[in-house]
Amino acid sequence: ARTPNAAADVAAHLHSYTNLATHGQVEPLLITRGDGIHVEDEAGRRYIEGMSGLWCASLGFGHPRLVQAGIDALKTLPYYHTFNHRSNPAAAQLAERLLALAPVPMARVFFANSGSEANDSAVKMIWYYFNAIGKPGKKKIIGRDRAYHGVTVASASIGGLAANHADFDLPIDRILRTGSPHHYRDALPGESAEDFATRRADELEQLILNEGPDTVAAFFAEPVMGAGGVIVPPPTYFEKIQAVLRRYDVLLVADEVICGFGRTGEMFGTTTFGMRPDILTCAKSLSSAYVPISAVMVSQKVHDAMAANSGRIGTFGHGYTYSGHPVAAAVALETLKVYEDEGILAHTRALAPRFAQGLATQAERRIVGNMRAVGLIGALELMADGAARAPFDPALKAGYQVAQYALEEGLIVRAMGDTVALCPPLIITPAEMDELFARLGRALGRFEKTL
Ligand code: PLP
Repeated sequence: ARTPNAAADVAAHLHSYTNLATHGQVEPLLITRGDGIHVEDEAGRRYIEGMSGLWCASLGFGHPRLVQAGIDALKTLPYYHTFNHRSNPAAAQLAERLLALAPVPMARVFFANSGSEANDSAVKMIWYYFNAIGKPGKKKIIGRDRAYHGVTVASASIGGLAANHADFDLPIDRILRTGSPHHYRDALPGESAEDFATRRADELEQLILNEGPDTVAAFFAEPVMGAGGVIVPPPTYFEKIQAVLRRYDVLLVADEVICGFGRTGEMFGTTTFGMRPDILTCAKSLSSAYVPISAVMVSQKVHDAMAANSGRIGTFGHGYTYSGHPVAAAVALETLKVYEDEGILAHTRALAPRFAQGLATQAERRIVGNMRAVGLIGALELMADGAARAPFDPALKAGYQVAQYALEEGLIVRAMGDTVALCPPLIITPAEMDELFARLGRALGRFEKTL
């Protein structure tokens, strides 16, 4: 029998990323509490959260310092806004701290509530910027196949995933798309990672030339593409891409919503992959996901032009009721302090080889075609025959099945098609990591036996 909460959920809750037609036939999984890397459901079953929720709860699910920061902030000033020269101490300090942490020199920080809003804000800033510098024709934004930048009208349009476009009449105009750096899937037979990166840069250049460089404003890229399948770019990919962007005065936006704050073993994925963005967006691990907050950092060049424009027209007409929310900003500020005080970067780097080895061990199975890992984000790409690169029949839903077996084994992973992703809390211990892979191994083994 369904619990009252599950019944309420089925009857009343319109779910995100859920098959609405079958909701109610599938039992909702209600998570009631969490501690460390574990979460617990209504029936008291415990799971290792191998995805940090949605790639976000980097400090796990009960860090006392974040809880206390939230309580203190709620007691002191539960809300104030940041419009029209208003601010609050936490927002001011968080902005200053983010500039100090920025992977390339940045001049100002804008706050929003989600990754989608951060990317949407970046789009508007880009349009505002090119109007300001007298190039109003430069408005097109380039995204990549398999990209995920969020679900607002603009951020979904820049993404390259069919589910975010189909039947929403997206993308909007002004949005272009180019190939992703997925060497395993997209390389020509025998094409080296280096040649593949060169080809992707050539294709980008051709796209810009075909559209007219005077019409192209910006290129959006995650350092490692998360939701598209944990796609780690070839080492020289961004160097080649950025050479093209510079040639045609196209801004680079680094979407650090997943990679930001240690995930790749550096504070930002931008550093790991040698990116030099003009604009950087972040969210998720900025507050370890305890409260909604996101940020957009802009370079001096972008900021100064924006300031000149809004001086001309009277205001920068963009911002949210909750931009720089004092409770969210206080929790984020504490999160950044905890990353530093607990040496989370060093810990992530120390554990990265164990993580890669855990994945590599599972990748020896016949049903794994490819494994990818950097820092503490990684994935296995399932194949009916890994050595022959023969994919599973999509109707089998191999990835979904493995994720279900993992759940039964007490492990939450994410299946994106037949790619199974891991993105555990960065506080995971070596022993917990071994337990995670033991459970994943049992799940893969159970699925293998059904074939
Ligand atoms: N950008 C990236 C790379 C993401 O992974 C996500 C969410 O998963 C977003 C943007 C959107 O963030 P949000 O769901 O907070 O709007």
